[in-house]
Amino acid sequence: MAPGVKAVADPIISSYHPHLQEASIAYLLRRGTWKSRGQVITGKAAIAPEQWRLLSGCDLVLIINEMVWQVLGDKGREMLLDHELSHFTPPTTDKDGSLRWAIREHDLQEFSEVVKRHGVCTGDHRRLIEAAGQLDLESLGTLTAQEEGESMGGEDDDMDDDDGFMEGDDFFGGPQ
Ligand SMILES: [Zn+2]
Repeated sequence: MAPGVKAVADPIISSYHPHLQEASIAYLLRRGTWKSRGQVITGKAAIAPEQWRLLSGCDLVLIINEMVWQVLGDKGREMLLDHELSHFTPPTTDKDGSLRWAIREHDLQEFSEVVKRHGVCTGDHRRLIEAAGQLDLESLGTLTAQEEGESMGGEDDDMDDDDGFMEGDDFFGGPQ
């Protein structure tokens, strides 16, 4: 578990994702190289499969790339978490009273409300770099970023998130 990530996520949930206040969310940092098809993955939102729920009591899972997390400034971290949390839609209630969570895809390349809140667009490198503020361009120079597309397995794995968030070879590199 990553308490630092949760500390950033909690106020975002209160402000923008109140339906998630009743969810138990596991925040995990993934170390080491995390790539898909040659591109660095920034994070992944997933619904915990049944085995996970029984083992951990967590409904939802956010996995964040630790290397990306370390170089993002406060605003970049908020935007990344707001983005990931936006993948979780309000739950429906099953016949037995348990909550059923679902994942949604982006309405744009980025969620339009995340763009509104943070004033950035993934297609606009300059503004995103400005919004990220404390980005260490040196260490990110070779990185490109997108999100993971694979599911975590289990019956609730309708969570494909292959979306190209922060995608593009020149995203962090090159003259801005
Ligand atoms: Zn996404």
